[in-house]
Amino acid sequence: MSQQETVDSTTKIQHLRLQRMTWGLGAQFSTWLVIGGLYLFGMVPGMPVAIYFCLVSSINIGFALLIKTNLNMRFKDPSMTAAQIVAPIWPAVYLMFFVADPQARTAFLLTAISGMMFGSFVLTRRGMLSVGAFILTSYLALLAALHQFAPERMDWRIEIIIVFTYASVLLTVAYLGSYISSIRNKLRDKNTQLAELAARDPLTQLPNRRSLMDQLSQEVARVERRSADDHELCVSMLDVDHFKRINDTWGHDAGDAILCRISNELRNIMRQGDFLGRFGGEEFIVILPESTLDAAQRTAERIRECVANLRFPELPDGEQVTVSQGVAIYQADERIETTLKRADEALYIAKENGRNRIVVDQ
Ligand code: GH3
Ligand code: MG
Ligand code: MG
Repeated sequence: MSQQETVDSTTKIQHLRLQRMTWGLGAQFSTWLVIGGLYLFGMVPGMPVAIYFCLVSSINIGFALLIKTNLNMRFKDPSMTAAQIVAPIWPAVYLMFFVADPQARTAFLLTAISGMMFGSFVLTRRGMLSVGAFILTSYLALLAALHQFAPERMDWRIEIIIVFTYASVLLTVAYLGSYISSIRNKLRDKNTQLAELAARDPLTQLPNRRSLMDQLSQEVARVERRSADDHELCVSMLDVDHFKRINDTWGHDAGDAILCRISNELRNIMRQGDFLGRFGGEEFIVILPESTLDAAQRTAERIRECVANLRFPELPDGEQVTVSQGVAIYQADERIETTLKRADEALYIAKENGRNRIVVDQ
């Protein structure tokens, strides 16, 4: 991946993270409504509410800043999912301490569940269970504090039921959430696999025509981004000579084996940055980015020699397989199909001139 592409995809992912954070704020909003209600009904004093909002705002601003400044990229999990679920818990626990009514506390507790659902984006079962355990432990700590400092605000019988119910709900959410997250991961892996399959030629395992065309349009975009006098993108169109005869004489299986062998050998001699693919049948394309016509011709010569020197177990001794090539350079602002057409015309001339040779489109 080029530097530019890496920057593009980072920006996209960071944007997605901010968006997810906004959804998180949406989920927190319900908590704030509950707190507003508690305050309006006189069930919690104003000061702790103010402190709660200060804490939660700082936390949210902190996470947003981390993403905005890309500092999160240094963390093991740049999405900071677990941290974002867990961080608002303590301010909530702090505020719950001041809520007199156990039933009102329960309403408050429920809102932590929606936060936990965000874990299903990335967390493993272990991660989800840890977050659940953290929330439950925090609530138990709250009960201990209430027991110590404000026993008049709690009823143990109710609390036991609440804690039991809450633990089982958290467990369910952790299991379901991690199940969703594992399905997401599997789906993503499958998609990657499918994309790879769709880009490969099954016989030679080389990039197929679709993939070649994708690569070409990327290269064209890259060339167009650079200065006008620096358009250097070459293509070599390669065709195996008299391949029909090889098939007819030695069999289709031998033909297949020869195509695979040529593909492997050429793959091995490709320079980094050059791109080889099967265009179709016994035709291949080599994409040579940042290459002058001269350099492209030299590469084509290397390819020609390499194939001509191969000995195939499928063929009798002395039987040679050769390739012809047409080389063309991309001209500013033309369609890539036009470049390919010029390479194809050069290839045609190479065939006319006796095969096993290279013709450069000037
Ligand atoms: P030229 O030197 O002019 O290119 O002659 P040619 O015989 O190579 O060209 P032509 O286009 O007449 O024949 C191409 C042959 O390639 C015909 C087709 O059966 C064969 N072919 C295409 N794909 C495959 C394949 O995947 N496996 C095998 N074994 N043969 C293939
Ligand atoms: Mg052909
Ligand atoms: Mg041919």
